[in-house]
Amino acid sequence: MGKQARAIGANTFQFFTRNPRGGNVKALDMADIENYLAFAKEEGIEKILAHAPYTLNAGSEEERLQTFTRETMLEDLRRLEHIPGAMYNFHPGSHGGRGPQEGARSVARMLDQVLKQSQNTMVLLETMSGKGNEIGRTFEELRQIIDAVELKEKLGVCLDTCHVFDGGYDVAGRLEEVLEEFDDIVGLWRLKAIHLNDSMNALGSHKDRHSKIGEGGIGLEAFRRIVNHPSLKDLPFYLETPNDLDGYAREIALLREMAADNSHFVEK
Ligand code: FE
Ligand code: FE
Ligand code: ZN
Repeated sequence: MGKQARAIGANTFQFFTRNPRGGNVKALDMADIENYLAFAKEEGIEKILAHAPYTLNAGSEEERLQTFTRETMLEDLRRLEHIPGAMYNFHPGSHGGRGPQEGARSVARMLDQVLKQSQNTMVLLETMSGKGNEIGRTFEELRQIIDAVELKEKLGVCLDTCHVFDGGYDVAGRLEEVLEEFDDIVGLWRLKAIHLNDSMNALGSHKDRHSKIGEGGIGLEAFRRIVNHPSLKDLPFYLETPNDLDGYAREIALLREMAADNSHFVEK
């Protein structure tokens, strides 16, 4: 995956820790990890992001699902300790109709069972669109989870531009205000990664359908502001747009050009 990332002009990448819609995992191959670490060092690849499978639900109180979620997260985190600097991103989950407050409490309880004082891997809560019974649509819900977790120093947030836009935060028209609100409620210092996606739908649609950069409701000019924003520009950006590899290479080139563009005007 590192080689593929370099081939399309990326200096980081996101990967699924296992089948995103399943749970099985391959045996841990230490030689493979060693090879990757050597390659990453040579190529300057840092801050890669591991994405937990969609089948987890830390917000559930159903015992079998809790066991599966706990065991998967523990195993994923145990493995990630072999990759220094990697972060682990997960969807907080679904409250199954019990309400986001109750759901947030369940997520915090799960994190308390999974996080260890000794771990180096940061665990990121992904901002969600609020589709169905999703937990984590509002910044307040994220804050509520973090507040209730004992080892909160292990927690960060990954902001998905499509999800927050679909969740009702206008990152297209009011980026500054949205980031201020995030800062007030969660703290910008907790923001560790950005999922860069346009949205097929309108602000507040709660749909979660990603579109290519510049082809959706967020629009190209908003992405120019996002990749150049002083609070965001140094974070790792991950594309989750509907693309083939060539498409990703084009989007990376476009975003790099937009980011470079601005450096002519911003003097430090
Ligand atoms: Fe995600
Ligand atoms: Fe995402
Ligand atoms: Zn999504």
